[in-house]
Amino acid sequence: MLDIPIIRQDFPILGHKVYDKPLVYFDNAATTQKPRVVVEKIRDAYYNVNANIHRGVHFLSQAATEAHEEARQTVQQFIHARSAHEIIFTRGTTEAVNLIASGFADAFMSPGDEVILSAMEHHSNIVPWQLQAARKDIALRVVPVNERGELCMESYRDLFSERTKLVALTHVSNVLGTINPVEEIIRIAHRHQVPVMLDGAQAVPHVQVDVQALDAEFYVFSAHKIYGPTGIGVLYGKEEWLEKLPPYQGGGEMIATVAFEKTVFNELPFKFEAGTPDYIGSTAFAEALRYVEGLGIERIAAHEQELLRYATERIQAAGPVRIFGQAAHKSSVLSFLMGDIHPYDMGMLLDRLGIAVRSGHHCAQPLMKRLGIEGTVRASFALYNTKEEIDTLIAGLEQIQTMFLKK
Ligand code: PMP
Repeated sequence: MLDIPIIRQDFPILGHKVYDKPLVYFDNAATTQKPRVVVEKIRDAYYNVNANIHRGVHFLSQAATEAHEEARQTVQQFIHARSAHEIIFTRGTTEAVNLIASGFADAFMSPGDEVILSAMEHHSNIVPWQLQAARKDIALRVVPVNERGELCMESYRDLFSERTKLVALTHVSNVLGTINPVEEIIRIAHRHQVPVMLDGAQAVPHVQVDVQALDAEFYVFSAHKIYGPTGIGVLYGKEEWLEKLPPYQGGGEMIATVAFEKTVFNELPFKFEAGTPDYIGSTAFAEALRYVEGLGIERIAAHEQELLRYATERIQAAGPVRIFGQAAHKSSVLSFLMGDIHPYDMGMLLDRLGIAVRSGHHCAQPLMKRLGIEGTVRASFALYNTKEEIDTLIAGLEQIQTMFLKK
């Protein structure tokens, strides 16, 4: 079991008050809070090892380079990649998806080719493909979602055609919490010789990810959703695929030699890392991963599952609640509506009670359309949340409900 009161002391922000009420932070699917070790790592790196990395012959540059490359190895080990040069640092999930969409469309797609997405994708795994679809005249095929918020696997199987070139799906839904059956998804795609990209933004903080066991061609995620800093994320790709993809951006660092006649690109991973990378962010990111490993992702998941179970049970007893996302396998995300209270009203009123939830479409408008709603209220739990905080949420919901009933 995790010692939550002790763990909470690692997160200074959790001790804050808002509107004179203790902060209850349930917006973890948007971003997580940072433990002291991560913040201190950033400070330490700027104070003690700051110099631009690679190529520098001086001491500081070499120390900073070493720290950055060690961070790459930490990420490699965390997701069980075969080699560190299969880890590309990006600005986050969004940039990683754009990188793949752009390179993949250029290198492997012709007019009429198809990409399979799903109805539960975040906009960042829809819009990059639409941009390429418009440029290259490619088609997007969408796996529907059933009433429980699960992918319709029969439809998924039927979507494959001669023209299918890639499957790009979310591992875990940021709205519904659904943990998709990615092993099966990949197995089916591979039967059609189609590679798979998984959006792991909502998965990596909650489930053990082993990219080799999964056998995904690409896997992307963001540091800030797993207790790391903002502005950095990961594109994992199998070496053979990364070798075949063209560079995404040009500039320093991604080249071996430059002449006006011809430029030779650098080897992996540098081919995809144009410009000065976020070498401070990478070391803080590695610190966050070590923090998570120290607690154990399985123990974190067990704690979060218990919070989800408790919150789901209590909220259903609290009033006329509709829960969106009733999949058999769910991460710690609770999306709901109460009566006909608008999600923004709910969000604002909860905020006044010190409770931070997210309300709206959660960057998944096609999913909202499928569900026939404008938005939901979303409470998402992380390793430092407690049942007492859930009690505060429930009390808040009951209070708001009474207020609306009186109207
Ligand atoms: N995919 C999913 C499933 C997400 O939840 C998010 C963030 N809400 C993203 C992609 C985008 O991540 P980022 O903004 O860090 O690039």
